[in-house]
Amino acid sequence: IIQSTKSICPECKARIDADYVEEDGNVYMVKECDKHGQFKDLVAIDKDWFKWIQKFKMDSDAKRICPEKGIKEGCPYDCGICANHKSAPAIIIMDVTYRCNLKCPICFANANVNPHLEKIEPTYNEIVRVFDHFSKIKPQRALVSFFSGGEPTLRDDLPELIAETVKMGYIHPQVATNGIRFAKDIDYLKRCVDAGMKVIYLQFDGVTPEPYIKTRGADIFHLKEKVIENCRKIGFYGGVLLIPTVVKDVNDHQVGAILDYAIENNDIVVGVFYQPVALCGRIEEKERLNLRITSSHVAKALQEHTNGEIGVMYPLTAISHFAKIIGWTATNNQVVEFTCNPICGFGNFLFVEEKADGTKEITGTHRVFDTQKFMKKSRKWYNILKERRYGERPHIFKSLLGGLGSLGESIGEGLDTIYNKVDDTVIKARMGLDMMSTMKLEGLLGKSKFFMDMVLNSRWDASANFVQSEGAGAMIVALMHFQDEYNFDTERVSRCLVHYGWIDPRDNKVNGVPFCAMNTLHREKIEDVLFTYHSIEEEEEEEIEAEPEAPKIETN
Ligand code: SF4
Ligand code: SF4
Repeated sequence: IIQSTKSICPECKARIDADYVEEDGNVYMVKECDKHGQFKDLVAIDKDWFKWIQKFKMDSDAKRICPEKGIKEGCPYDCGICANHKSAPAIIIMDVTYRCNLKCPICFANANVNPHLEKIEPTYNEIVRVFDHFSKIKPQRALVSFFSGGEPTLRDDLPELIAETVKMGYIHPQVATNGIRFAKDIDYLKRCVDAGMKVIYLQFDGVTPEPYIKTRGADIFHLKEKVIENCRKIGFYGGVLLIPTVVKDVNDHQVGAILDYAIENNDIVVGVFYQPVALCGRIEEKERLNLRITSSHVAKALQEHTNGEIGVMYPLTAISHFAKIIGWTATNNQVVEFTCNPICGFGNFLFVEEKADGTKEITGTHRVFDTQKFMKKSRKWYNILKERRYGERPHIFKSLLGGLGSLGESIGEGLDTIYNKVDDTVIKARMGLDMMSTMKLEGLLGKSKFFMDMVLNSRWDASANFVQSEGAGAMIVALMHFQDEYNFDTERVSRCLVHYGWIDPRDNKVNGVPFCAMNTLHREKIEDVLFTYHSIEEEEEEEIEAEPEAPKIETN
């Protein structure tokens, strides 16, 4: 046994004990329900990698002080966000519609399957209210507004909604889309970009029509290409993230080809987020183990495809210290904490350079940075800045002048403020230089400007420039394996950073439900609540309409 946790029974959803066990070099989750027997699922195909990533766990500094829910039944039944949740929500997702112009067999949200769901589409004001709520939570607000569905581009008011979240201070509005409308309606695409959309989270299952026919029920590859072309036409550079859902025997053989496509179009495509498919419904163990693709499968395929250039796939949490120091020294104090479970997401950067003959060459981060040194120094500066942020700041002048009475004390306080500000600037410069020393010669020659900009300006838009601007040539390659009922882990989900927002009509309060808990456990119940409530509302409206008109009273 490598480690133990709690999970749920895939049949009755009761909370049960689960172990991560090592077998033949693989890692499995094994659990047993009193009523429904044992379940075993593959979690990783490399036990050493699985053990290594566990070192990158980081806890939140931002203890939530306003959980929406108390603790009643324990995780994962108390979503949310309950007082047990360990991370501050960073990304707020809203299903802004349940309508869709496709009928994907692998849809999380079952969009288009149940026509009644259209009735519970949130109103403009409800969507604004949810995003507003999460922009105000203390001590750390959410920074990414994520529009999902259904197909969010079926809403004509999407650009206005994006603009609303920009006004609330969300720095990275993203739209998850199949791309059909952006391909067919360039004016609408431009309206979204002008409104502040930073990223098109584009469903992208392969580079030929076949995977789409299987995963989406239609040949729409040419429309994906059209989205890229339209982005180029309107100058939306570095704005597209390709999102392949990786399914065994459908598109797992195209993992490398998708990366090549991204590299080829790296003026527009900022990265690829591979998502091994979540397995829903009752599937026999043998079939499931055969179907299961994990992040470690995709990482291996990418390493083979790039001849190792992509390097190690680090857990997202590996940059948590660096992300914190950027946030803490940020002029606008925007902090994102990567405190999810290390198995939730992995990634690395690739640098893409166009050669004189037009071919593109990739360089892994290990050639640009000394990654071990980078992480060590990030941790060092995290500790220094944490102490400065939460510890007592020095009162040098106040102590010196305090003896001169209240006037001396207030002059001392003023001088201390100035001293601390100057000291902050000095620290920031020292940190920038120290972090820059983690770059190798190749990095210093080509990428130092963007890196220094990111460290010294310490703003998320500077960080975004690092990957999104044309000159930087950096691309993110990431893996995100969402949970399903077979590999569900309450430790993982209780650290989730990605929260669905919804308004519970029973008490009219805004709630946040961690993504994997939503899709594994809560979605149906929440939709039932919304549907029941909306049906009652409709009936009441009909009754009101059916009321006979009051007789007119003659007056003099
Ligand atoms: S997932 Fe988070 S919010 Fe939901 S019950 Fe667990 S700790 Fe609470
Ligand atoms: S969405 Fe799922 S996989 Fe991603 S951070 Fe949350 S729990 Fe982890």
